[in-house]
Amino acid sequence: MIIQHGLPATMRAVRFDSVAGKLELMDVPFPAPQRDEVVVKVAVCGVCRSDLARIDSAVQPRMPVYTPGHEAAGVVAAVGEDVRSWAPGDRVVVAAGRECHDCPECREGLGSDRCSDLQLMAVHYDGAWAEYLVTSATALVAVPDAVPLEHAAVLCGAVSIPYGAIDTARLRPAEAVGVWSSGGHGAHLVQVARICGASPIIALDGSPEVRERALEWGADVALDPANKRVASYIGEITRGRGLDVAFDFVGRESTFGQANAVLGERGRLVLVKAASEGPVENLPSGAEEGRTIVGHTGYRVRHLRDLVELAERGRLDVSASISSILPLARVAEGLSKVRESEGDPLLLLLRP
Ligand SMILES: [Zn+2]
Ligand SMILES: [Zn+2]
Repeated sequence: MIIQHGLPATMRAVRFDSVAGKLELMDVPFPAPQRDEVVVKVAVCGVCRSDLARIDSAVQPRMPVYTPGHEAAGVVAAVGEDVRSWAPGDRVVVAAGRECHDCPECREGLGSDRCSDLQLMAVHYDGAWAEYLVTSATALVAVPDAVPLEHAAVLCGAVSIPYGAIDTARLRPAEAVGVWSSGGHGAHLVQVARICGASPIIALDGSPEVRERALEWGADVALDPANKRVASYIGEITRGRGLDVAFDFVGRESTFGQANAVLGERGRLVLVKAASEGPVENLPSGAEEGRTIVGHTGYRVRHLRDLVELAERGRLDVSASISSILPLARVAEGLSKVRESEGDPLLLLLRP
């Protein structure tokens, strides 16, 4: 039995047929929740580069036909019969990763923050370029009235992945941070590292526009990584101590080598990738003693919860992160805009 009133029998959804290479807006059956699941009426959903990578065949999708989109916020429309934590009308943001119920951690009941085999929206199950989505009740975070749902959608993915990386690095106030590739996720990392008290923050990017924006968003210094004096500049800026944390969003041998070379004595180098991107290029190991090299992937529900808290209290403002909001029917136009805006941290949202 499902608690729901006045819900339609069908809904509009964008379906991607990866065999035919066709993206289409169509009517599909309304998704029925399992006992522990929730149906969310999607207010907005972001268009992410990892959606694009599957649609453009750069990454092979797992499901031959599916609904893309994994950066969604909305309002609970219906809940499965075992769900006590949510009720229709609740404003929520949806974490893209939901627990698998099958890994050792899940079997121990440790929940989605510890699951070792997270199931990803729009990879393992249908996504949110649709009027409604269905997911596990444990994948939701409440959004207070003070936070617009559009902002909440920016928090999941665009901001939560860099924030998760900051958590992985165990960044402390007054630590020197370097960010390799400062568009997209890197720009939001600069913004959140500033809130976390990092100092100084050094942004590295080949594009002058991206460097300019990084300075606006909280970097103290922005450098072109192609500049041969990068290492000595970083030495000067940090007064010889080097970086405490280097975040590498590029994942190539060249950036890795550059970041590794300017790490301070107890420095941590964090290689970041979105959960649904392809593998990081093979990298040499070889951290010097006292230094750490660690990988970071995706984000957890708790990261999203923290960011909603920061947004609610006015610490974090992501209003500058939204470039435009298009109706779902204009998805193709949205995709081409995102394709053209490589390196831009601004997010395009679709509104069903
Ligand atoms: Zn994404
Ligand atoms: Zn699990």
